[in-house]
Amino acid sequence: MSESNVSALVWFRRDLRCTDHAALFHALKQNRRVWCAFVFDSDILEPLPRQDRRVAFIHDSLVELDQGLRELALKAGVPQPERVGLIVRYGSARSVIPQLAGELGVQSVYANHDDEPDAQDRDAQVRGRLSNLGVALYTLKDHVIFERNEVLTGNDTPYGVFTPYKNAWLKKLEPFYVKPYPITPYAGHLAPVPVAVDAMGADHIPTLADIGFEAVGTLKVAPGMSGAQALLDDFLHRIDRYDETRNFPGIKGPSYLSPHLRFGTVSVRHLVDLAWQRVQAGSAGAQTWLSELIWRDFYHQILFHHPHVVGGAYRREYDRIKWAHGAKANTHFQAWCGGRTGYPLVDAAMRQLNQTGYMHNRLRMVTASFLIKDLGIDWRRGEAYFAEQLLDFDLAANNGGWQWAASSGCDAQPWFRIFNPITQSEKFDPQGKFIRRYVPELAALPDKALHAPWLARPADLASADDVVIGRDYPLPIVQHDEARTETLARYAVVSEGKVKASETPRARSPRRAR
Ligand code: FAD
Repeated sequence: MSESNVSALVWFRRDLRCTDHAALFHALKQNRRVWCAFVFDSDILEPLPRQDRRVAFIHDSLVELDQGLRELALKAGVPQPERVGLIVRYGSARSVIPQLAGELGVQSVYANHDDEPDAQDRDAQVRGRLSNLGVALYTLKDHVIFERNEVLTGNDTPYGVFTPYKNAWLKKLEPFYVKPYPITPYAGHLAPVPVAVDAMGADHIPTLADIGFEAVGTLKVAPGMSGAQALLDDFLHRIDRYDETRNFPGIKGPSYLSPHLRFGTVSVRHLVDLAWQRVQAGSAGAQTWLSELIWRDFYHQILFHHPHVVGGAYRREYDRIKWAHGAKANTHFQAWCGGRTGYPLVDAAMRQLNQTGYMHNRLRMVTASFLIKDLGIDWRRGEAYFAEQLLDFDLAANNGGWQWAASSGCDAQPWFRIFNPITQSEKFDPQGKFIRRYVPELAALPDKALHAPWLARPADLASADDVVIGRDYPLPIVQHDEARTETLARYAVVSEGKVKASETPRARSPRRAR
C-alpha cells in the first residue's frame, strides 16, 4: 500500500477536544488521511431519562470540537476544509464503528483508553469486528497521567492505599508524562468527509431531538474546550489558596473542572503540568489540588485492577452488611434524594445536585455518609442516584467516593467514623451561606440555629418569618445519635475479630483528616 493511501479514523469518546490528544496525534502523524467520528451510543443512551444534562453537555461540546477540527484544517490548507469535521452517528458503537471504518476504507481506527468494564467489553468486540475487516484498532493512554500497571508496588501489585500510591506517582512524574501531543503540525492530514459517507457535510451534528432527547435549559457549566478554558483561567487566580478554601461549599474554592475532566474537554496533562509548576514555585494550594488529580488516577487504576467494585464491596467482607430495606427505608431514600431529611446541610447539598448536576466534594462525603450511616441504606443506591444526577459522573471516582464513605473501599474511612451532619455543617458552612442558597425556607434563621433548626429557640423561629419546623421545613427523619448506634451494630458483622486495638475509635489515626 502506498503511503498516500494510508488512512485512519479517530473515534472520540471521553476526550472531546482537538488539542493535546493522544489518539488524534498518533493518527495524524502516521496516516495521510484522517477522519474523526463520535457515536451517540444507543447502548448507553437508551436507558437514560429523556432530559439529561450529560447528553446536552456532550452535544454542545461536539459542536465546538467539530468547529475546532475545521479551523485546524483551514489553517493547515486542507482542500475543502468546510467538509472536514466530526462525523456523528447514532447507534450501537459496537456496530457503527466497524461499519464506518468500512465505508471510509480506513486501515486503522485510533481511540483513547476507557478502562470502565463495559467500555472494555465494547472495545474488545469492536476490535474483533474491525479485525474481521482487516482494520486495526489502536488504543492509547490519554485520560490519566498513569494508568493500569504504570504505578505498582515493589511487589508489582496494584496499590490499595493512597499515600504510598501518591508518593510512587510523584516519584515517577517527569516532564515527558505531561508533554502535550501537538496536533497543529499534522493537521494537514485531516481529510474532507466523502459525500457518500455524510451527504450533509461534516458539520451536521444531530440535534438533541434527533437522538430522542429534550433540551435541559441552560447548563450551569459551559461545555466544550472554551468552557474548560474559562474555568481554568478563573481557577488559576485561586489555586494557591485551594488548600484553605476547598472544604467550604459557600466559598468558590475548587476548580469546578470535573465535567471537563470527565469528558476530556481539557487535557489532564495540561492541568497536572500547571499544578506541578505551581508546586515547584512553593504553592501549598497547588500541591493539594495535584493530590486530588492523583486521587483521580488512583481510582481509575483501582477500577481497572478490581472490576468487582462495580456492584460489590472492594473489601468483600463488607458485602455481609444487612442494609435497611422496606417501606421506611424507601421513604428515607426518597427524602434524601429530594433534600427533605431535616438536616439542612444534607438537604442543601442534595438540592444543589438536583438543580445543577454538581455537588461540592465535602458535601458528597457528608451526604453519602448520611445515607449510609444515618439512614442505614445500601451505598449502591446512593451511588446509582449520583450516577444519574452528576454532570461529572465518572464510574471510577463515584464508586471510589461511595466506597470510601461506606468504609468498604480501598483506603476508606474507618467504619466507626461517622460524620455528624450537624457538626459538619457548623464547621464547613458556619454562616450558612451555602445552606441559605439552597434551603431558602430557613434563610431568615440566625446562623447558629441553621444547622439544627428543630432545636431553634421559639424567639429565633418567630423572628425568622414565623418559620415552623415540621411544616415549612421537615423535622429530622432520624436522630443522629440513635442512627450512629444502629450503624455501629450493623457494621459489627465486618469488624468481628478484625479490628486491631490501634484501630478502635478512641485510638483512630488522624492520617486522613477528611
Ligand atoms: P477540584 O477540587 O477542583 O479537584 C480537581 C479534580 O480532581 C476534580 O475535577 C476531579 O477530577 C479530581 N478529584 C477531586 N477529588 C477527587 C476524588 N476524591 N476522587 C477522584 N477524583 C477527584 N468525582 C468525579 O469526577 N465524578 C464522580 O462521579 C464523583 N463522585 C463522587 C462521589 C462521592 C460520594 C465522593 C465523596 C466524591 C466523588 N467525586 C467524583 C470526587 C469529587 O467530589 C469531585 O471530583 C469534585 O467534587 C469535583 O469538583 P471540582 O472539579 O471542583 O474538584
